Formats: sequence, structure tokens, C-alpha cells
Amino acid sequence: MLQAAMKPCVCQERHQPRQIVLTGGPGAGKTAILELIRLFFCEHVRTLPEAAGIVFGGRFPRSARPDLRQAAQRAIFHVQRELESTVQADNLAVVLCDRGTVDCSAYWLGEGDLFAAVGTTREAELARYAAVIHLRTPTSAIAYNRDNPLRIESMEEAALIDARIATQWEGHPRRFFVEPTEDFLSKASHTLKLLRDEVPECCRQHVKTFLWDGEAAATAHG
Ligand SMILES: [Zn+2]
Ligand SMILES: [Zn+2]
Repeated sequence: MLQAAMKPCVCQERHQPRQIVLTGGPGAGKTAILELIRLFFCEHVRTLPEAAGIVFGGRFPRSARPDLRQAAQRAIFHVQRELESTVQADNLAVVLCDRGTVDCSAYWLGEGDLFAAVGTTREAELARYAAVIHLRTPTSAIAYNRDNPLRIESMEEAALIDARIATQWEGHPRRFFVEPTEDFLSKASHTLKLLRDEVPECCRQHVKTFLWDGEAAATAHG
């Protein structure tokens, strides 16, 4: 099934790119789901790298000190904005953002707020994205599942960040939640289904059918 995803898309349409955000708190499975998205969607669905990964991976100071934390979130905001600008000429149908500019506000600590600090508003940033898919962080009940590597105390922190992310994206007209399930495949299937509905018709036929139907996912056709 994996090699099937490599066939190039036949679509010749001129696309109007739509920016879609995939977000969620720690431990929600975002990274693994992004891997599947790369395999199962055509080349007109492009995933951007996570801005925080670029910033911290490049050794931007990471600290709990509010002033440093604010500096990091401003940096991540600007990297995110510029990442989005890099694909505007690529005739993409969907630009999938691994978190969006609004997420920076959820990680903001201390005085003031991120949006004012970078000269924008939350409303303007919400309007950048056509849809938001929020993968919820597992709750403590599911956390007892020993497959989950997060410990209980960090689980509480993760839940807090997840709640802050949900608050920041509040009011977006097309927001979808993917609730945590113990079964990764059903969560992945739900997410990919939501994303497929955001892909224009011209590129949708090309999407691999592997994960669409919950139960069928368990028995992958070779
Ligand atoms: Zn297309
Ligand atoms: Zn395509």
C-alpha cells in the first residue's frame, strides 16, 4: 500500500491554496499522523515543518523565564508566517500547517499578549486558516494505558497546554476536534478523513483509500 502513494497526481487544475492547521497538545499523536498524511495525499497537499522545531532545533534559547519564553514565541510566530509565504507560488491545493500562528499565543507566558507584541490581532490570525483540526491530548484516564510514555504529572501539564490551545482557536468557524482514543488507527483515520474533505474535488480522487473506513483500517489491503 505504501508504494501506491508514490504515483504522481494527474490533476492539472490551477488551485486556490487553502491553509489548514493541524494542532494539538503534547502527546496527541500529531507527528505520527503527519507521517501518514505525507504518504496518503497527493503532492498538491504540502505539509510545512513545525516552526517551533526549526527555532528550538536551531538552538534558540529555551527557558521558563517569561521574557525568554516571549522572545521564543515571537520568533516562532515570524518563522511560521514566513514558512507560509514560501509555498504561495507552488500551485498547492492544501497547505497543511503543523501548528499555526495562533498557537504561539497558547505558549505565551507573563505580561502582555503575543498578538499585540507582533502587531496583529487574534481575529486576523484566525482568518489566515480555512480550517483547524485539533488533536486532543489524551486525558488521564487513557494515560493509564501503559503504552503511553507520558507520566501523570506531565500529563496534567499537557492537558493544560491542550486547553490553552483550544481557547486560542475559539471562534474559528471551521474547527474540528479529534478526541483521544486508545486506538491510534481510529484517531488517524478520523483526522485523515477530515483532511480529505478539505481537499478540492480535483485532487480528492487521488487520496489513498487505506484509512477511510474505521474497521477497514485494521485490515490493510496489500
Ligand atoms: Zn487538484
Ligand atoms: Zn493533486
